[in-house]
Amino acid sequence: MRITFFGAAQNVTGSKHLIESGGFRLLLDCGLHQGKRFDADALNRTLPFSAGDVSATILSHAHADHCGMLPLLVKNGYRNKIFATPATAAIARLIMLDSAKIQLHDYLNMQKRAVADTKILPPLYSAEDAEEAARYFAPLPYAHATHAWQPLDQRCRFKFYDAGHILGSAVTVVQCDEPGGTTTLAYTGDLGNTHVPLLHEPEIIAEPVDTLIIECTYGNKNHRPIAEIADHLKEIIRDAVQNKRKIIIPAFALGRTQELIYILHKLYHQGEIPVIPIYLDSPLASDITNVYASHQEDFDQDTWTDFISRNESPFSFQNLRTLQTVEESKALVAASGPFMVIASSGMAEGGRIVDHLERGVSDPNTIIMITGYQAENTLGRKLQDGITPVRIYDRTYDVRARVVIVDELSAHADQRGLLAYVSRTKNLQKIFLVHSELPQAMAFKEILTQHFPALDITIPAVGQSFEV
Ligand SMILES: [Zn+2]
Repeated sequence: MRITFFGAAQNVTGSKHLIESGGFRLLLDCGLHQGKRFDADALNRTLPFSAGDVSATILSHAHADHCGMLPLLVKNGYRNKIFATPATAAIARLIMLDSAKIQLHDYLNMQKRAVADTKILPPLYSAEDAEEAARYFAPLPYAHATHAWQPLDQRCRFKFYDAGHILGSAVTVVQCDEPGGTTTLAYTGDLGNTHVPLLHEPEIIAEPVDTLIIECTYGNKNHRPIAEIADHLKEIIRDAVQNKRKIIIPAFALGRTQELIYILHKLYHQGEIPVIPIYLDSPLASDITNVYASHQEDFDQDTWTDFISRNESPFSFQNLRTLQTVEESKALVAASGPFMVIASSGMAEGGRIVDHLERGVSDPNTIIMITGYQAENTLGRKLQDGITPVRIYDRTYDVRARVVIVDELSAHADQRGLLAYVSRTKNLQKIFLVHSELPQAMAFKEILTQHFPALDITIPAVGQSFEV
């Protein structure tokens, strides 16, 4: 078996790993490179392999850095199945459509501003291309529901375990009969954190595994306990209600939004927070939340105990209202507190959240709540780092709002979680560390070496191939 790493190697975006066994070519994920626009765009323009030669594709989960290049794969001639869990297939369709929409929006914007004769590259793909790619999805449940292997060809098969990262996320185990014997490889995709609302803990692989490809986004650190978030939110909401402040929350439409709603609903249920109107001002987040609501079978036991067994949805309660139209959103931007608004994008680089921030950032009566990872150079990162003034659209604003960092939620396993996962994977010989910046991967490699001196550990670079 041969593995080639085409993305998320010594960085955290563009996940794409090609497995070859005999003539069979299996693609694990086909993600978009994200980051500085022009660098990322150059990497996304061409696929680093021939799409028509890929025999099958497996999608670990629906984040754009794992699924966002699937439309290009199909556009370039891929005509085989894309295996994913049912929730991943449904959410990935929405994410690909949203990606096409953002690309078109950016393209039209750049065209408007460009000087004559500047060549502006068209979007990578259209909404029609995204819909076309979604037609190749072959939904398959987790193995705990069926215990069955899914055949890939006469010699190769695979199964899914729950990765606990976002709804539908899967760890994939691939097995191929080869001349020297059977080779078993596992790929974690993104591996979840423990005690995250709604989701199971990452599921341990039952069979012995020869080679593991594991993400290590947080290979160098441990998270704060999630349990602390309740007290943190209570203090912020009490402040908002007492002082009639508005709370503006940039949140990723996929994952973080649903987790926040769950936690707020539960606190409200328990009488722990005062009544405050909560607005979800993101049509994409609301569509994704509907997909979450229709996949109760993937929820963890706590969600069943707290909500489903009482015939309640974790995602609807009387304080919460979903806004759809631009007019509703504009009216809320102009309204005064107390209320809470959750909107995307998660790093405040686009979407309706920018309008809320533009209005609120210089108002000392506003609370801005940062709940997720903020990449360098984004507005969210500047607010997180206490930088003032900040530029929003074409104007500069002093930051007078109270900025609070609620960093207890993380969708990724931390160093402890990653180490526990490796130690519970049986028979491991080789391990490849992916989906991480190099310093994080090196820190994790060092700790793995201390614990498992016999393990063959590699931090692959983009384009490198290995026989396993
Ligand atoms: Zn992810």
